[in-house]
Amino acid sequence: MTRPAQLLLDHQRLVERERGLRDNIERANSRLESDPEIVEREETLVEARAAQEVTAARVRESDHEREAHRSRLRTREKELMSGRIRSPSELLQMSEEVKHMKERFAEEEDAELKLMEDADAADEAVREATNQLEQARKQSASEEPEIRSELETWTTELAEVEAERDAIWEQAPPAAQAAYSRMRMRPAVAQVVNNQCSACHVTVTSSGMQLLRKGDELVHCENCGRILVRD
Ligand SMILES: [Zn+2]
Repeated sequence: MTRPAQLLLDHQRLVERERGLRDNIERANSRLESDPEIVEREETLVEARAAQEVTAARVRESDHEREAHRSRLRTREKELMSGRIRSPSELLQMSEEVKHMKERFAEEEDAELKLMEDADAADEAVREATNQLEQARKQSASEEPEIRSELETWTTELAEVEAERDAIWEQAPPAAQAAYSRMRMRPAVAQVVNNQCSACHVTVTSSGMQLLRKGDELVHCENCGRILVRD
C-alpha cells in the first residue's frame, strides 16, 4: 500500500502536470486565434504605408512649388528678353533677380531629388513589409496543423491526468487530504533529499527521519511546515 505522503506527492505532481497542460492548451488556442508574428508584421506594414504617404505628399508639394517657381522664372525671363525694359538699372536688377531665381531653382531641384530618394526608400519599405507579412502568414499557416495535433494530444492527456489525480486523491486517507488542503504554501509536499527538506533546505531532525522511515503518519518540515516525503 502506498504511503499517504507519497500519495499526496503523486497528487501534487499530477496537479502540476495539469497546470502545465492547461497553460500549453491556452497558449496553443491563443496562437491559433492570433499569431503575434503576423500582428507585428501587420503593424510594420501599416507604419510603412503611413510613412510612404507622408513622403509621397512631400514630393507632390515640392513638385507643385517648383512648378510655380518655374513659371514665375519663365515670365521674368520673357520680360527680360522682351526688350520692353530699357532702364539699365532696371535691367540689371531684373537679371540679378533671374539669376537668383535660377540658383534657388537648382537648390530646389536638389532638394526634390533627395525627397524622391526618400519616397523610393519608403516604397521599398512597403514592398519589404508586404513580403514579410506574406511570409509570416504562410509560415503561420504551415505551423497550424502541428499546433492542432499538439492541442489534441494535450487535451487527451489533460483528461487522463485529471482522472488519475482524482483517483489518487481518493486513495489518500481523509486526515492526509485535510492536511494537504489546509496547507497554504505551494508546493505543499516536499521530498527529503540528503536529510533536508527540498523546499527550504533545512535539515530534518533525527526523530523526524525516524517517523518518515516508519511512514505511518504525516511528518511536517519543522521549518516551513510542508508535508515531507522520504526520498
Ligand atoms: Zn521545509
